[in-house]
Amino acid sequence: MPTIIPAIVASSPTNQLVAGTIERRDVGPADVRIDIRWSGICHSDIHTVQGDWGPQHYPLTVGHEIAGTVAEVGSEVTKFAVGDRVGVGCMVNSCGECANCVAGEEQYCLQGMTGTYGAEDVDGTITQGGYSTGIVVTEDFVLRVPEAIPFEKAAPLLCAGITTYSPLRHWNAGPGKKVAVIGLGGLGHMAVKIAHAMGAEVTVLSRSLAKKDDALALGADHYFATENPETFRALRGHFDLIINSVSATIDINAHLKLLALDGALVNVGLPPEALPVKVGNLIGGRRSFAGSNIGGIAETQEMLDFCAEHGIAPEVEITSADQVNEAWARVLAADVRYRFVIDVSTIG
Ligand code: NAP
Ligand code: ZN
Repeated sequence: MPTIIPAIVASSPTNQLVAGTIERRDVGPADVRIDIRWSGICHSDIHTVQGDWGPQHYPLTVGHEIAGTVAEVGSEVTKFAVGDRVGVGCMVNSCGECANCVAGEEQYCLQGMTGTYGAEDVDGTITQGGYSTGIVVTEDFVLRVPEAIPFEKAAPLLCAGITTYSPLRHWNAGPGKKVAVIGLGGLGHMAVKIAHAMGAEVTVLSRSLAKKDDALALGADHYFATENPETFRALRGHFDLIINSVSATIDINAHLKLLALDGALVNVGLPPEALPVKVGNLIGGRRSFAGSNIGGIAETQEMLDFCAEHGIAPEVEITSADQVNEAWARVLAADVRYRFVIDVSTIG
């Protein structure tokens, strides 16, 4: 018998989020049941509910930055025990057999990984996310939260942390590399902290000068406003790697020209509209325009351990179930410093 638990629910693309309930399956042999304690608010939650990326099944509970405590383990579970501090990110399953899964890149599963919310699960139900008091997940998709990371700050690492860590690693951010981060939001501020910890020279490209002091305090070496055309003249051909974390369409061609020879501009932001690239901007510097999706499970654990070792954690603002609609409005207005986290004890 599934268990019915309290959750925050979206009933349509446009209605306000409301208090409701969702079902969780019984704990199977390989499953872990987690009492959720903290749940981060990612811009993807808003894109999804608003239908920016396509139609959804409603009612829907979103949330894929989950930190909690193991409450029950299945008979075959070996990695976790009741009481462990754990996390769940953007995926809860994958085929486990395709080339990408075997390579530890489950996020690129050729069958399509199972998203933490809004995806069809193996039993045909639609997955429901972390704005809820509990979740049941196969142990292979559960992460261990190191003791050194404050619990409420662990949640955003499960999406914003890994989504920026993975491309920074893949494109070799480190000493001697000039890295730019476009957009200083949830993902952007983690990109700054992680790239700085990896030893790269970090520049923030934000729309205005409003976040300059914050950016420098987060570890950025330089800061420029993209609303000033002079920025694009001064930084032409400058960066080895640019991470674009913006949730909306930007002038991608203007930013491609900021890449040095062999540089890469990697989109992690996923705006609803296309970003039309002028091929000449790639050819003119052997440049790449790429994308990157979260990270694999092993890499997510590596990121958590890296953050613990380097004392990195997101800047969070704690919110409550009855303030979630206001929090979403502030995310849409880029008025968050720099990630909202829901205190799940206020749900239900
Ligand atoms: P967020 O906190 O809202 O940050 C986005 C930032 O983009 C804002 O802080 C703002 O930075 C900038 N921005 C917003 N609107 C803009 C506009 N109209 N023009 C120019 N800049 C604008 O969002 P987030 O949670 O970090 O997510 C960012 C994007 O990444 C979303 O599209 C999300 O869906 C996507 N995402 C992708 C993955 C993945 O695996 N690839 C994972 C998670 C999220 P400034 O104020 O500094 O300009
Ligand atoms: Zn996310």
